[in-house]
Amino acid sequence: MREQKLHKILKEIFGYSAFRFEQQKIINSVLDGNDTLAIMPTGGGKSLCYQIPALYLDGVTLVISPLISLMQDQVMNLKETGVEAVFLNSSLSYEGARKAKDKILKGKVKIVYVSPEGILSPVLQDFFDQVVISLIAIDEAHCVSQWGHEFRKDYTRLGELKDKFPNVPVLALTATADSKTRADIANQLRMVNPEIFISSFDRPNIKYMILDRDDELKQLDNFIQTHHPDDTGIVYCLSRDKVERVATALKKLGHPAVPYHAGLSQEIRTKNQELFNTEEKIIVVATIAFGMGIDRPDVRFVAHLDLPKSIESYYQETGRAGRDGKPATAWMIYGLQDVVKLSQMLETTDADESYKKIARHKLDCMLALCEAAACRRKYLLQYFGEIGNDFCGLCDSCLEPPVLWNATVDAQKIMSTIYRTQQTFGAGHIIDVIRGSKSAKITEKKHDQLSVFGIGKDRPKEHWNTILRQLLNLNYVAIKSWEYRSLCLTQKSLEILTGGQVLQLRKQEFTFSKKTKKEKKEVQHSKDDLFGALKSLRNKIAKEKNLPSYIVFNDKSLHDMCHILPRNDEEFLLVHGVGQSKLQNYGEEFLKVIKEYI
Ligand code: ADP
Ligand code: ZN
Repeated sequence: MREQKLHKILKEIFGYSAFRFEQQKIINSVLDGNDTLAIMPTGGGKSLCYQIPALYLDGVTLVISPLISLMQDQVMNLKETGVEAVFLNSSLSYEGARKAKDKILKGKVKIVYVSPEGILSPVLQDFFDQVVISLIAIDEAHCVSQWGHEFRKDYTRLGELKDKFPNVPVLALTATADSKTRADIANQLRMVNPEIFISSFDRPNIKYMILDRDDELKQLDNFIQTHHPDDTGIVYCLSRDKVERVATALKKLGHPAVPYHAGLSQEIRTKNQELFNTEEKIIVVATIAFGMGIDRPDVRFVAHLDLPKSIESYYQETGRAGRDGKPATAWMIYGLQDVVKLSQMLETTDADESYKKIARHKLDCMLALCEAAACRRKYLLQYFGEIGNDFCGLCDSCLEPPVLWNATVDAQKIMSTIYRTQQTFGAGHIIDVIRGSKSAKITEKKHDQLSVFGIGKDRPKEHWNTILRQLLNLNYVAIKSWEYRSLCLTQKSLEILTGGQVLQLRKQEFTFSKKTKKEKKEVQHSKDDLFGALKSLRNKIAKEKNLPSYIVFNDKSLHDMCHILPRNDEEFLLVHGVGQSKLQNYGEEFLKVIKEYI
């Protein structure tokens, strides 16, 4: 009986034919009244885990969410689906808040989004005394934990909700999986015997590519032109400066790029966020300030021009690509400078040693992913505690296995140079000595008289940079002083210098040029007349209603229409994402276009 009703809600309201991952189990656990912890990858479909119980249960479901933009997006989405939802947060005027509360008291609302500070404020607590609360969902629950990577102070007090609503089940949702964070979430939220559900972290539609940095703008431009010329994407950079620089450069190259970072005025940020939501094809160049709460499902690529500081961050950021399940690319370039810069940032913070230790470990894991000669996906899944296959067939390692080469002699040249210059110089200087540079600094230090001077002048600077980076990442060389970024040898260096060990390194000179079969089909498909016609209809409606186009229908729904070619309402309901509300609002217009095509 219950199962039937749940499927009915899934199909008739949300327009989906099957539950994904552990959705059904999570929903059942909540409906059984259990405190529940749901761990699901970004884009996995966490929202449905509380939205469906909200509709099933009497009363109101409270959703605690960390960001205003996230709440707005969700409420807009729900309204289009025909579900009454409101948010209560500081973005509302007095009048707006009064109206929202009025609606709640009249029993017209099923889901209320609130911020953590909001729900803990006496005013709102008094207000909710008058309302029957059926469920409390805590979104982005890793924010309660210091172990997580997005710790937020307001979140730590959410355990107090148990005093206020002792009999209401709590559903905590997050995409961060490591076991420490998990335990901490349950603990902080004072969950009672929580049921825990962990979904697979695999995102099989995402292709992973990690390349050596050479000329980053050229590489990025080339990547976009070859793989995603007509697509929407996000380009992440570490600093605000770089965001501006890259956005301007991309625009000059003819890409529709806009910048986004916390240093821009609120007005520009809102405008660019808006463009991202509504434009058919747009590239947002951003710091990580842009991200949490992005709901756009048809982001086709996420490009990293700088290395994230942990795999959690990398996975969360790349997870914003391809939420609709269609092919997408996570592309990253990195180089020696990233390693040095990130390590330096870490070592020079005021944080205590135990924090640094965790952070160092996380960075090491990130670097190991970059240097991995084996399947990237397998490594990522392993990091999240899953066992993947040796060959995924959709990452650079699998598609174009890296060539390993014997780098022993070149590694020895670098190590000797570090040794002969008293282990007091940084990477730039070491490489200058090896390449026989005649700079003032070198002659002044008399380094042009060393036996190692110019022993590597036959190879370009990038070659030495790459090897040095790999040596650092693999701990054959270390950074001695963070102030001067000077390099030193390690215990492991000796194995190469004197121990006769052979060092195999990954050669990263390849670039991707071939498209996979799947992608080729995609491109062809998108050129299809019908798809084009449906897309313009969708965009026209979105413009008229002032909604992001993907809220009207996302690309997956449009592709589905091309595939199913529905002739009547009944068949239209078979389309992904079509429930009663969308059928009523848009069915006629879309069916007309499809009919003309047939
Ligand atoms: P997240 O886990 O990142 O919060 P969302 O809840 O935003 O993910 O869901 C991501 C996308 O997947 C949304 O477009 C959502 O409508 C869609 N989705 C969720 N559950 C299903 C399902 N069972 N079948 C098909 N699509 C789904
Ligand atoms: Zn692979």
